Amino acid sequence: MEIRFRKLPIGKKLRVINLLIVSLVTLLTISSMSFFMYGSLRHDYQKNAATLSAMLAQSVNSALLSNDAKAAQGALDGLRTVRDVLHAEIYDQSGHLFARYARENNTFNALPSFDPSQYEKTAHFGSLALDNVSPVLSVSPDKKQIGTITISMDLVDAHTHLVNQIGVLLLVGLLSFILIAALLTKLQKNITLPLLSLTKAMHKVSKDGDFSARATLVSQDEIGELASVFNQMLDELSKRENSLHQELKERRLIEERLSEIAHFDSVSNLPNRNSFNSQIDRALINYKYDLEKFALMFLDLDNFKYVNDTFGHHAGDLLIARVAERLRGSLRQEDYIARLGGDEFAIIMYDFTGISQISAVTGKILAALQQPFFLEGHEAFIGASIGITICPDNGEDRETLQRQADSAMYHAKSLGKNTFQFYQADLSLAHKNRINIETQLRRSLEHDEIVVYYQPIVEIPTEKIVGFEALARWIKQDGTIVQPDDFIPLAEETGLIIDIGSHLITSSAVQTAAWVNRFGQIFTSVNFSSRQFRQDDLANDVLKALKNAGLQPCYFEMEITESILMNNSSDSMNILGLLIDQGMGVAIDDFGTGYSSLSYLTSFPISKIKIDRSFIAKLPNDRNALAVVTAIIGLAKSLNLKVVAEGIETVEQFACLAKLGCQYGQGHLFGNPLPAVEATKLLEMRSSQSALSKQHYLGSL
Ligand code: C2E
Ligand code: MG
Ligand code: MG
Repeated sequence: MEIRFRKLPIGKKLRVINLLIVSLVTLLTISSMSFFMYGSLRHDYQKNAATLSAMLAQSVNSALLSNDAKAAQGALDGLRTVRDVLHAEIYDQSGHLFARYARENNTFNALPSFDPSQYEKTAHFGSLALDNVSPVLSVSPDKKQIGTITISMDLVDAHTHLVNQIGVLLLVGLLSFILIAALLTKLQKNITLPLLSLTKAMHKVSKDGDFSARATLVSQDEIGELASVFNQMLDELSKRENSLHQELKERRLIEERLSEIAHFDSVSNLPNRNSFNSQIDRALINYKYDLEKFALMFLDLDNFKYVNDTFGHHAGDLLIARVAERLRGSLRQEDYIARLGGDEFAIIMYDFTGISQISAVTGKILAALQQPFFLEGHEAFIGASIGITICPDNGEDRETLQRQADSAMYHAKSLGKNTFQFYQADLSLAHKNRINIETQLRRSLEHDEIVVYYQPIVEIPTEKIVGFEALARWIKQDGTIVQPDDFIPLAEETGLIIDIGSHLITSSAVQTAAWVNRFGQIFTSVNFSSRQFRQDDLANDVLKALKNAGLQPCYFEMEITESILMNNSSDSMNILGLLIDQGMGVAIDDFGTGYSSLSYLTSFPISKIKIDRSFIAKLPNDRNALAVVTAIIGLAKSLNLKVVAEGIETVEQFACLAKLGCQYGQGHLFGNPLPAVEATKLLEMRSSQSALSKQHYLGSL
């Protein structure tokens, strides 16, 4: 009961309490009034009975004294006029009934003698009769009791009257109860309504999260104050909520941006490698559950680096964006394209009928990319190599499929670019190895693994370092150094030599410019492959690299093999002509090993010949080698060409060459190919050199 009451809302609680109090008060009032009325009624009847008794006592006094029962009866009969008297008795001095009166229809049998106990019965509260017993005293001075008068009053009428009165009282009480209860309910609403409004507002805030809800200010009492404080608190909260909302919005925007950065490539507007990884995982799950096949393609642009280096990075970015557009245009909406980085893209193709359909789509992509690109006023031509693998035909996990698409792509590249290849599991091991090395070599540039080493070239008579030959080294991430003979041929074959060569030109130009600035005249000679001469813009590229490095062309030398001159292609000649015109030196490398025709020496303004180290190695004792070297030195002198002996390893070779009048020398005796820092240290010592003090050897020979 108590718990149920506790659970009631305040309004109901107050109503219950009010009703209880009002009922209690009304009941108490009515019952006390009834009690009082009844008491006073009895008192009145008592008094009346006593008065009647007194009056009767006087009138029966003499009748008792004279024992005149008739007179006493006459006095009693006078009571007939008093309606409420039920019966009355007069007893004489000895207690015997002397005279009696009973109202009509009253069957009361008077007691023959006076018995006080009989009258005690009627004395109690609630009885319907009320008796009065009075003595009759003599009028003589001794006032002796000469008899007793008993009068019994009928209370029935009085009771009926009283009941009616109580009924009226109850009616009035009920009306007042209703009135007071209504009044209290109304008053109580003054308290509960503001509380209700406050509670409603609180509910709106706590349940619906609606911070715009406000409590209605109904009263100006403590609850009103509470509501106003509550509203103020809500104002404050909604301000905070708004700023929190704003902050959350900003945070969401930042998160969206971050996720965009994390998953999108801003240059191509395509998903990036992260997204691609997730996508391929999704494709694999789809395959697992729905057996939906898919083809994975890796696409690598041909000549992208060239465009980037020639027209600048901005043009390169533009090209990537345009390539992305063309890829989109060549594929269906449901196919997935991502940029993996650099000039590499990945495509996931779903819902195809067979290899012929994939081939058709790939052909379409290649055709689209072969069209010229117009980039900031330049016209650029690129191509692409595409490697394709199919899930589940070739594999069912991400790593395998990626490796296969990668290897198929390099297979395509090795076949001469702008083509596509499906992954073939049965490629020969040698082929696979080659593709593997090619893949690594391709990545080596991106990872800055191709480093320039510098081998000093000295002036033989003075032994001073006059220049360096720039030699490429491939330093893998695990620290292993790959020598040029192990990767230059492959680079030439795959065309990668163009990118490697351009890296060598740029780096060595910058390094030489620094040396020239610091140490004065120093030249660097760089090896050029015949493949590089197939580039239309080679001369311009070289001059641009020199210009960017701030190096005059006279400090830069090209080493070419006889074969380039012998091919005598007009393009190569034009390139060489352009560079020589700018003051650049051209050296014939590995002289003596190639063609025996020497006509090109006279027809072309070369500046230097480098005697191949195979002849130097046989000096000084091999007569044939000595004869060839002597002849070459003589030829150079007569054609006014500088001559460098390569591969000088011993002091004897050095002495021999000095004796033969060879101007310049290069070889382990003077220094191995060194990283730029080490080469710089050599130069620092140059001013105070003899770097290789061998004068005493020369003296002894
Ligand atoms: P090369 O142009 O004839 O370079 C000279 C080679 O002889 C270098 O080998 C050098 O380390 C080596 N050498 C120098 N002194 C001695 C010596 O005293 N004894 C012996 N045995 N060898 C010596 P490296 O660096 O292995 O280069 C080999 C070839 O690779 C070069 O021959 C050159 O044809 C080619 N190469 C190197 N770097 C490049 C490059 O950046 N571009 C091109 N296209 N070819 C390069
Ligand atoms: Mg060389
Ligand atoms: Mg050489």
